[in-house]
Amino acid sequence: MGDKSLRKIVIVGGGTAGWMAAAPLARRLRPGAGAPCEIVLVESPQIGTIGVGEATLPPIRAYNRSLGIDEADFVRRTQASFKLGIEFRDWGRLGHRFFHGFGDFGPPIENRSSFMHWLRLARAGGMASYEDWSVATVMARANRFTPPSGDTPSAANSYAHAYHFDATLYAAYLREYAMRHGAQRVEGTVVDVRLRAADGFIETLTLADGRRIDGDLFIDCSGFRGLLIEGAQHAGYEDWSDLLPCDSALAVPSARAGAITPYTMSTAKAAGWQWRIPLQHRIGNGHVYCSRFTSDDEAARVLLDGLDTPALGDPRPLRFTAGRRRSAWLRNCVALGLAAGFVEPLESTSIQLIMDGVGRLIENFPDRDFAPHLAAEYNRRIAFQYESVRDFIVMHYKLTARDDSAFWRHCAALPIPDSLRHQIELFRSSGRVAILDRDGFAEPSFISILYGLGVEPQTWDPFIGRIDEQALRTHFTRLRSAIAGTVAGMPDHADYITRHARAEPPAADATPREMARDALARKGEPLPRSGAPPIRVDADSGD
Ligand SMILES: Cc1cc2nc3c(=O)[nH]c(=O)nc-3n(C[C@H](O)[C@H](O)[C@H](O)COP(=O)(O)OP(=O)(O)OC[C@H]3O[C@@H](n4cnc5c(N)ncnc54)[C@H](O)[C@@H]3O)c2cc1C
Repeated sequence: MGDKSLRKIVIVGGGTAGWMAAAPLARRLRPGAGAPCEIVLVESPQIGTIGVGEATLPPIRAYNRSLGIDEADFVRRTQASFKLGIEFRDWGRLGHRFFHGFGDFGPPIENRSSFMHWLRLARAGGMASYEDWSVATVMARANRFTPPSGDTPSAANSYAHAYHFDATLYAAYLREYAMRHGAQRVEGTVVDVRLRAADGFIETLTLADGRRIDGDLFIDCSGFRGLLIEGAQHAGYEDWSDLLPCDSALAVPSARAGAITPYTMSTAKAAGWQWRIPLQHRIGNGHVYCSRFTSDDEAARVLLDGLDTPALGDPRPLRFTAGRRRSAWLRNCVALGLAAGFVEPLESTSIQLIMDGVGRLIENFPDRDFAPHLAAEYNRRIAFQYESVRDFIVMHYKLTARDDSAFWRHCAALPIPDSLRHQIELFRSSGRVAILDRDGFAEPSFISILYGLGVEPQTWDPFIGRIDEQALRTHFTRLRSAIAGTVAGMPDHADYITRHARAEPPAADATPREMARDALARKGEPLPRSGAPPIRVDADSGD
């Protein structure tokens, strides 16, 4: 039996997904680490990247760490800031605010969540908001940041953080990393995909200038169009717009001014919601909306009116259809990023799903036989993850009590999957959360959203009733003041960045794209432009 290891992996697309796939594969499959396997990434000088995707979730730290990336260097080079969670404004009802922080509401007591004990005390009266026991939330409200420290559980380490960064700079950072670890970059536009007649496997890509690229495994990171997974493999797309009605976005950067908040802000609007993401050099803003309920002009007006600093350009329109590819892995083609699917950016899950996709691919790494069960297992897990992310996002819309616009009335009446109905009713009736996806959002995240959106549990866990109430109150009082005291001693977020990871200020009038171009130009490489030429798919005649 000869060696069947993959000899060449071809990645199509040089956006966040492409380089997030190339970096770990290049590191793990580099020459000298077992049988050699070439990693080739093709990116088009004509077709741009989407260029948004600035907020992340805490597991990105594990991804960066697995590559040996130094946090301060990465923060500096991507104009990043730290993210402790998301503040939701006007969601649920107008004038209401709540926070989805990264971390729990205190340590569990007798194997029951701290929130459950809080609920018991709150129902008896005299308790402050449960958010006072979320260290991340208290830090965010005070604009403080320092990384978690110490091994013994305490207020100084019971929170997690992620980042806000410039997505274009992050892709450029990973590109430099991947190429340093042996990945090859080919600049060219794929215009033809040749399939093996016998089984439909991808054999060769042809570029606009006639060059041909063959490979064993093809990773489709070509963005929404899904050049290989859809164009050549016809995987099909499961459309979720009946559950997630938003289909449009406008993105615009604005000037940085004042404090850099260590959190994303999401403000509900009449026909969608607006994000505010603070970076070191600018603020990223966008309005996600449903085109059935507002016009693009009105959406742009809402976005610009909602900025707290001057816009640095015109809003850039984007269209999308929420959903996922029916199979993210078909034959020798695996789709990642927007080519695999898209659930709107409300909880910053897309980059997370790219990471998860790369991780699952490495777990189910094929050889040249491409055992069909590997693809089946990959597809099973990825489909489940996309669906659990989808349900988590749908929850935000479905639980609204707003009836001040046709959009919100439409959302309140949305049909929802049975699994989500179960989740909501379980919490409403008992304060409990069902963790259906162990790789997805954890219990505190569900509590933040369910309770934040006004689902009031009717009762609490009867099992905890025998714990002495007064002792419990003393515990909560002490914990609250320990959290407040610890947070008061933490540095201001902007001061922390200045001391540990301050980025070079960009040229006065440079856009993010120009900054990335400058960075690449210093290495003598151009940045892709926009405009997508047509693509041809040929089945190999076998001759
Ligand atoms: C409005 C909006 C906001 C978002 N916000 C967030 C967020 O806050 N957090 C988050 O995690 N995610 C967010 N996302 C998602 C995030 O932007 C994407 O998941 C991420 O950027 C990955 O994109 P990609 O690499 O899959 O595709 P793209 O960036 O579109 O890259 C596609 C690549 O394919 C190449 N290509 C295409 N066709 C060809 C061809 N024929 N030949 C050669 N190359 C080709 C292009 O040149 C390009 O390099 C957001 C998305 C949207 C729409």
